[in-house]
Amino acid sequence: MARKIGSRYTAHQILGRGSAGTVWLGEGPEGPVAIKLLREDLSSDQELVGRFVQERTALLGLEHPNVVSVRDLVVDGNDLALVMDLVRGTDLRTRLDRERRLAPEAAVAIAADVADGLAAAHAAGVVHRDVKPENVLLDMQGPLGPGGSHRALLTDFGVAKLIDNPRRTRATKIIGTPDYLAPEIVEGLPPRASVDIYALATVLYELLAGFTPFGGGHPGAVLRRHVTETVVPLPGIPDELWQLLVQCLAKAPASRLRASELAARLRELLPLLAGMPPLDVDEPDVEPVREEDGEPEEPVPSAGPVRRGAVPLVPGARPSDSNRDTHTSMRVPAPDELAGGAHGTARAPRAAGAPRPGSARNRTTTRRRRLTLAACTVALVTAVGVGTWLATSSDEDAPPPQDTKNSAPTSP
Ligand code: ADP
Ligand code: MG
Repeated sequence: MARKIGSRYTAHQILGRGSAGTVWLGEGPEGPVAIKLLREDLSSDQELVGRFVQERTALLGLEHPNVVSVRDLVVDGNDLALVMDLVRGTDLRTRLDRERRLAPEAAVAIAADVADGLAAAHAAGVVHRDVKPENVLLDMQGPLGPGGSHRALLTDFGVAKLIDNPRRTRATKIIGTPDYLAPEIVEGLPPRASVDIYALATVLYELLAGFTPFGGGHPGAVLRRHVTETVVPLPGIPDELWQLLVQCLAKAPASRLRASELAARLRELLPLLAGMPPLDVDEPDVEPVREEDGEPEEPVPSAGPVRRGAVPLVPGARPSDSNRDTHTSMRVPAPDELAGGAHGTARAPRAAGAPRPGSARNRTTTRRRRLTLAACTVALVTAVGVGTWLATSSDEDAPPPQDTKNSAPTSP
């Protein structure tokens, strides 16, 4: 079933569905492409279409081997489509779900690729703001890299920002994926390039451990942990790699490495990690989450990887897409809540190696639905007249061009 997209492209078959729309395998004048067709309720939003057109140059400008380039933007009748490079492979979330933990060499090679992509973006003044395994695509047709890893490409540059930042709203809403949100965002500061470094370090930790350092349970608890907790060491991790992770997960943005330096330091570690098996890390214990009726839920034995506390980025995303929806939008917790005051539940930092409460990946579907529902309720109640931190964080927030030694944009 072919479908015409504008005058130049034909969509042939569905490659995947995301929260913002459907991605098609298509054909353009220069060969095969991937076409992200935005959901109808988004493409019929004139303001949103206007923002896409306005940002056209930024969207189309990035060219790098570790970035999925946007080739074209099509506005045609009711269709709004992003035409992208076709990546023949899978996304990193799918690989992580399948393997649970990656060998350190493969994990670090992937993170180094993403860091290179980020370095190019940051040098061009673009902050990604939504670095997470779902937005890393693995090219399975190209040659294998260190540790048998496929080349990794970062996708969805600037898309979350465009879809989710109505300028008419006010600035108290947090938009992003709770597990990967830097603490300064939780505290209401505008996102600069260093938020991408924090998110990437979180992804690397997750590739090594099988879970994120601060995830699990209610999104509000996740946000609080980003601000108040220190990251728990992973048993058996080489010290040099651990030091890099700790530095890039620093609460103070200025303490984190820049993308080009992170990429270089990660690549330096590859020989040391060659042949090392995945880390032997215990799944964190489950702490029953008290729900509104005060009834604790029983921990459930692990039934495989599960996405945690997430609500859709875009209002009205279809339930069938729920395992791809990893954005939350909710208010910024008040300082007293972050400090564990009257309404908060902040705990003392854990001892190294102690289980992280509420961080299980092994919840039942019912439980997930209930958590998601609870999160949606929070978002609904609090998202009235909310936020433009994304809007206020336009590209001038990016740092001045950095050393692009490792990131000089090149044509793929
Ligand atoms: P969203 O960000 O809107 O949730 P995604 O970008 O994750 O949607 O796209 C959904 C799925 O479509 C991905 O998991 C992937 O399988 C596929 N996909 C997305 N972009 C590409 C691409 N450039 N090339 C090949 N497949 C893609
Ligand atoms: Mg995406």
